[in-house]
Amino acid sequence: LNFQPTTFITSAPDIRQLPADDGVEIAFAGRSNAGKSSALNTLTRQRNLARTSKTPGRTQLINVFEVLPGKRLIDLPGYGYAKVPLAVKEKWQRALSEYLEKRDSLRGLVILMDIRHPYRDVDQELLHWATASDIPVLVLLTKADKLKPGARKTTLLQAREAALVFGGDVTVEMFSSLTKIGLPQVEAKLSEWLMT
Ligand code: GDP
Repeated sequence: LNFQPTTFITSAPDIRQLPADDGVEIAFAGRSNAGKSSALNTLTRQRNLARTSKTPGRTQLINVFEVLPGKRLIDLPGYGYAKVPLAVKEKWQRALSEYLEKRDSLRGLVILMDIRHPYRDVDQELLHWATASDIPVLVLLTKADKLKPGARKTTLLQAREAALVFGGDVTVEMFSSLTKIGLPQVEAKLSEWLMT
């Protein structure tokens, strides 16, 4: 599947206002600053499809992109930003778990984690909710260029080991928007999800 023709469709203020639940979609989630926007831009070969965040935690919108008619990429707001009030965090987490449980068109969830500190609290919670709802997960260890090849490999193997705890269909790959390491693996997995 060629991701280059991907276009921006809309921004939704919350999950209830996403486009109709038909066709197929893949959601992208991660802590603020994990490299989610960069990954979306790299995947689609576009410099500015997803806005890379200079100020994490600003407006929490869900951005909807379309690769082809009826095949969407959903860019969920980054989480883990300390200044967001607890009540807002809790409301968002409830909405997110409901989305993972109820969205029929959702074929897979990509969780992006900085390779230098993977599996933080909310990452683990998301993984747990997704596998509990039988949603396949692709964990991307981002900014892989920040580690030397040896450390990268070790971290990848450890992260794959850690993923087993969650059961379910969880794939772990490393990724770098800078060097494009892992890009073919990401494209293969997303194509598989969108085309079946
Ligand atoms: P988001 O908040 O998850 O959307 O993260 P961004 O894509 O905005 O990236 C956050 C910061 O990490 C920015 O300063 C990016 O330039 C940097 N970054 C993103 N991806 C990579 C990568 O693969 N390698 C390196 N070295 N830096 C990256």
